[in-house]
Amino acid sequence: MTLLEQFLLPFGFSESTSSTSEKPNPSSGSDKEKNSTKKHRTVALQGQTVPWLLKRTRRKTVGMSIGQGMIQVNAPKWVPVSDIEYILKEKSNWLLARLAEWYQSDQHRLLPEQQWAHGATLQYLGKPMTLALAPQLKQVQFDDFRRELQLALSADARLEQIRDSVHAWLQSQAKRFFAARLKVISDQSGRQFSKFSLSNARGRWGSCSEDGHIRLNWRLIHFGQDVIDYVIAHELAHTHTMDHSASFWDEVAEILPNFEEGKQVLRKIRLDALPTF
Ligand SMILES: [Zn+2]
Repeated sequence: MTLLEQFLLPFGFSESTSSTSEKPNPSSGSDKEKNSTKKHRTVALQGQTVPWLLKRTRRKTVGMSIGQGMIQVNAPKWVPVSDIEYILKEKSNWLLARLAEWYQSDQHRLLPEQQWAHGATLQYLGKPMTLALAPQLKQVQFDDFRRELQLALSADARLEQIRDSVHAWLQSQAKRFFAARLKVISDQSGRQFSKFSLSNARGRWGSCSEDGHIRLNWRLIHFGQDVIDYVIAHELAHTHTMDHSASFWDEVAEILPNFEEGKQVLRKIRLDALPTF
């Protein structure tokens, strides 16, 4: 565990914030925590769903630190979870800044920033989409109006189940959406391709082989249509010109006149800033 910083809150903090009745009491707030000394939870801090891990200890103060990309809390048994959440909210500026530092440090940059929990968001077709656990569903469903991806998983689904379910859904959407855009742009421009498939290459958005097989990185599904169209136009231009000469870019402009916007968006993006599956 990396301890970037740690602060201690004085003993008695919970009493001073939760008015009257919160006396040190061994059973207070711990009913749901029976038989577990460590428990993963999430808390909404300034609109962000942030994971935190609660460890009940013998210490007399509530301690917080950042480790493993989440907030690590050590607290005595008698401090109720609701009081700890109150403290997390009180300290949200500090905690979010430390979390951002943790993710941006060289050491952790390649680790996932994405949260896999109910209420977490990620980019889908250039706009945020919220993840929701929907145990009543038989299969995953996207609510376009609420921009909510409803996962057919139980309320206590593990992080890996959520991640894998989102991954599979995004890939199926990528396949369907890219194939449709490829057909539209190919038909409009008269540029032919022989085959299309998804790719998973790190650091590569698309490719085109000499026999006209176009591969598009499924992660493009995080971006808006202008970006996806640009990569498609780029690869379709490669069916004609394999290099990146001036005539190649003329070709791209012929296929997609306003390709520059999508190109600029992609230029600024770091692949390692995208969710890691
Ligand atoms: Zn190229």
